[in-house]
Amino acid sequence: MSNVLVLVDHTAGTVRKTTAELLTIARRLGEPVAVFIGSEVQAALPTLGQYGATKVIALSNPELTQFLVAPKAEALAQVAAKIEPSAILISSNAEGKEIAARLAVKLDSGLITDAVDVQEGAVTTQSVFAGNFTVQAKVTHGTPIITVKPNAATPEAADASPEVEEFDVTISDTAKTARITDSKPREATGRPELTEAAIIVSGGRGTGGDFGPIEAFADSLGAAVGASRAAVDSGWYPHAYQVGQTGKTVSPQLYVAAGISGAIQHRAGMQTSKTIVAVNKDPEAPIFELVDFGVVGDLHKVLPTATEEVTKR
Ligand code: FAD
Repeated sequence: MSNVLVLVDHTAGTVRKTTAELLTIARRLGEPVAVFIGSEVQAALPTLGQYGATKVIALSNPELTQFLVAPKAEALAQVAAKIEPSAILISSNAEGKEIAARLAVKLDSGLITDAVDVQEGAVTTQSVFAGNFTVQAKVTHGTPIITVKPNAATPEAADASPEVEEFDVTISDTAKTARITDSKPREATGRPELTEAAIIVSGGRGTGGDFGPIEAFADSLGAAVGASRAAVDSGWYPHAYQVGQTGKTVSPQLYVAAGISGAIQHRAGMQTSKTIVAVNKDPEAPIFELVDFGVVGDLHKVLPTATEEVTKR
């Protein structure tokens, strides 16, 4: 079976859920080989094995983490030249997409970004033009390089015992042009990361600036909190939580939009969510065209009641 490279997304060896999803997808395409960049491979090993990595290639050259993405792309190109994978899967976040683009140039290969599904033969599904079209595509030149959106697959355990192979890479001076001078972890909110969360509860102008009911309902469900641009522009919630065309694109299992009208620019960021629920006091709000379940009512009454019901269970 051919090897499928998966670039591991992690923080100090703690593997993100998106990597478990990529490994699950990789198993449909061939033998998943994880590529770990950093010095904490041992911490990551149990999770990588749990989701079926048959081998882990460890790249611990410190230059890879001292600079921004260019050295990582160079290193991955060297791994790909040796392993000759049938596909390379990378998480669809800002860093992943930049690495993928640079890698595609180096390998003279086709690149598909933001796939919401990848099936046998590396045939991808993408949602394009603000979600108005669904496209199936396939790379026809070189090694398919595919960035995959969070929640594209449900992680399935496979219980492998991967061997670790240390891989030496040579980083050119031209790749070492942007050095990281400081790096601080984001302040922990105790909630899942917005782009990775399985459930998101978002608030809009209809909150009137009070995100208390949004946060309480999110916490009862173990969800992340999102916001519309109107809420962000009003200074009610930080920009990092904005969902939409000029914010984050999310694709959770469940998206709850409360006090959000459903403007096209908001939909662009959330309409690939698997189940959409809206709470809006206006029965004519455009968001109701999109939902699986809709509640016409005041979010300040509906959400606390829903929170109470969920908490009881
Ligand atoms: P509104 O459209 O004002 O809707 C508020 C809703 O709350 C209404 O439907 C109302 O019935 C309901 N409501 C009011 N009170 C209550 C209550 N008590 N209980 C329940 N419901 C209530 N928007 C984004 O969200 N993300 C983006 O990334 C984004 N990018 C943009 C990029 C461009 C170039 C442009 C031009 C616009 C962009 N927008 C974006 C803005 C977008 O067009 C809308 O203006 C915005 O999404 C509206 O936010 P909203 O739904 O919270 O507010």
